[in-house]
Amino acid sequence: MAVEITDICIACGACIDECPVEAIVDDDDNPTGEDIYYVYADKCVECVGHHDEPACAAACPTEGCIVWSDVVDGQPSRDEIGADLRKGDTPCVE
Ligand code: SF4
Ligand code: SF4
Repeated sequence: MAVEITDICIACGACIDECPVEAIVDDDDNPTGEDIYYVYADKCVECVGHHDEPACAAACPTEGCIVWSDVVDGQPSRDEIGADLRKGDTPCVE
């Protein structure tokens, strides 16, 4: 899977430097043209092998802003999360 940044993003920038694989781009580089940050799903590895939880979601001050997105073939996924999470659920962070 990957994570996705939703339109409640306030473009604060807290997440971008936390990503170990540079999957996040800022609002200026968002390929959709929206004025929010953006996660390239084909780059996001859910921080597997880097952190115990998605680092971007842990850093984000906006509750519910970063959600699980669709499964991307070939990308790692957190086994403990399983297939039950639907798009729109917030990654579990403390
Ligand atoms: S979950 Fe991890 S790899 Fe994916 S965008 Fe967030 S910080 Fe980057
Ligand atoms: S930390 Fe959250 S609110 Fe801030 S830019 Fe990233 S996704 Fe948007």
